[in-house]
Amino acid sequence: MMKVDIISIFPGLIESFFDYGVIGRARKNKLFEINCIDLRDFTKDLHRTVDDSPYGGGSGMIMKCEPLFKAVSSVQTKDSIVIYLTPQGETFKHSTAKRLSGEEHLIIICGRYEGVDERFREAKVDLELSIGDYVVSGGELPAMVILDSVLRYIPGVLNSEESHLNDSFENGLLDYAVYTRPREFEGMQVPEVLLSGNHKEIENWRKNSAKERTLKKRPDLLKGDN
Ligand code: SAM
Repeated sequence: MMKVDIISIFPGLIESFFDYGVIGRARKNKLFEINCIDLRDFTKDLHRTVDDSPYGGGSGMIMKCEPLFKAVSSVQTKDSIVIYLTPQGETFKHSTAKRLSGEEHLIIICGRYEGVDERFREAKVDLELSIGDYVVSGGELPAMVILDSVLRYIPGVLNSEESHLNDSFENGLLDYAVYTRPREFEGMQVPEVLLSGNHKEIENWRKNSAKERTLKKRPDLLKGDN
């Protein structure tokens, strides 16, 4: 069973996220284990300090080495992959999610302030991941985005109806167009073929729909750039 330890100064922000929807159901069914660890539990001073001002001056605060080293060491084993979330990391993709879903143990570090002391990165971090070319205030949202996507690939997390096999990116294409009741809404119709009951024709229509929208919205995927 995959184990995930998330290290953050706001563990309460993350904890309940994994109790909802398909991920919450899978957590309850013990298909994986998630623990949210409070970085401040690894401090010694009265104020539970995790940050300090940067050497060389300048604005912002930096996350100190000692609590980070201690927090990681408290859970790390030879099978752990230590992931630091940072806008400077490799951009997280569908293929990264699939790859990580096969790991035994992920330790996720959520940064805050101006990030972590460089010595922590050098000594402890195996992989740096970014959710995109923009900056958010902390690693908690990136952790939830990345883990939600990774956990979906663990066998049994999605049932056959929720299967990821038709999801966008799975076959190098975006997902096809989907419709539900009513058949007509404000003069707009559902494509006739989807009402036909002809499974072969429906499958062909969906294949074309996926190709057309990929060509229109994400032609880069068709070149295999991703
Ligand atoms: N000064 C840092 C820089 O420019 O690289 C950004 C610090 S950011 C305000 C605080 C924390 O938020 C980071 O340490 C990281 O953990 C998280 N973070 C912000 N943007 C992120 C992104 N695009 N992907 C992953 N984590 C991000």
